[in-house]
Amino acid sequence: MLSLQELVGEISKKSDYNEDEIRKMIEEKQDELSGLVSEEGAAYIVARELGLTLLEEQVRNLKVKDVLPGMFSVDLKCKIAKITDIRTFEKNGTQGAVQNILMGDETGIIRLSLWNDEIEEFQKTGIKEGDTVKLMKILSKEDNLGNPELRLGKKGNIEKTKKEDIMLPASASSISISLATKEKTIDNLKPGDRANIKGTLIQLFKRKPYYEICEKCGGRIEKMNDKWLCKNCGETNLKFAMLLSGIVDDGYGNIRTVMFRENAEKVLGKNADYIQKIVEKGKDPLEVYESTNAVGKRLSLVGSVKENDFTGNIEFVVNDVNDLNLGKESQDLLDSMEGVKKLDS
Ligand SMILES: [Zn+2]
Repeated sequence: MLSLQELVGEISKKSDYNEDEIRKMIEEKQDELSGLVSEEGAAYIVARELGLTLLEEQVRNLKVKDVLPGMFSVDLKCKIAKITDIRTFEKNGTQGAVQNILMGDETGIIRLSLWNDEIEEFQKTGIKEGDTVKLMKILSKEDNLGNPELRLGKKGNIEKTKKEDIMLPASASSISISLATKEKTIDNLKPGDRANIKGTLIQLFKRKPYYEICEKCGGRIEKMNDKWLCKNCGETNLKFAMLLSGIVDDGYGNIRTVMFRENAEKVLGKNADYIQKIVEKGKDPLEVYESTNAVGKRLSLVGSVKENDFTGNIEFVVNDVNDLNLGKESQDLLDSMEGVKKLDS
């Protein structure tokens, strides 16, 4: 989005008015609309009334993070992260097919969903994973999680461009990890499996949410004769690492799930330093469970299934986690989870 100053500059550059005059017009427009629009909003209206097309130009420079559901004529430059297999289905007696293309730039990852004939069109372009592409006049719709999803529509076009260095965000690698790992439902998990499960965190165990690690090497640190010592490097200073365990349910079954370090931080929405500060202030670290919205989150988890030596039950040890509930669905889920939270021991 352009700032107010940039908008004023653009309008002035493209019209016969100087910046002060433009500012005055924006103010008047705001008054006229009884302050219902922001200065930026009023600037767009002023531009439009002057016959200027600021928005179109802005659309040309869109980044993935700027794409919202319901846009039409989106132009983007992306790198292809992943092309999924074609999935066929039958609906009302007719065969259909769908294929997803995940792509992104340094600001995020987005899905282009291809349907039926569009799949063949796409194949003709010869686009492969890792290619740089230009999308023109693409539509964006809202997917069932409330996130934007791209569609070719009638006018949309995708073409390969000269290879450019577009950096994908760090989450892209975890998306690839999730896609590369076989997705399983919880009822099908066996000890030794490595799998991707998608489910809701329905409960957190309110246990000590951290463990001590060596400040220097990050390895496990042990308490010997009342003193902490890292057997790896001899360091005596410690820091905290986060640990979280709970239950994930995917509608087919549920499993005890354990997360460490960054994965636990991502889900809890608090980091280890925060917990360390609480503890150093003499407060109860368990209070982090009171102030988190982690329960009710829809998660995509990659990890391995281990058998607990002690109980014989299986548990899921997480290597990578992504939050699936973005958008409004999350709140609905949270609300429906209120009952579950109360059962927490
Ligand atoms: Zn160490």
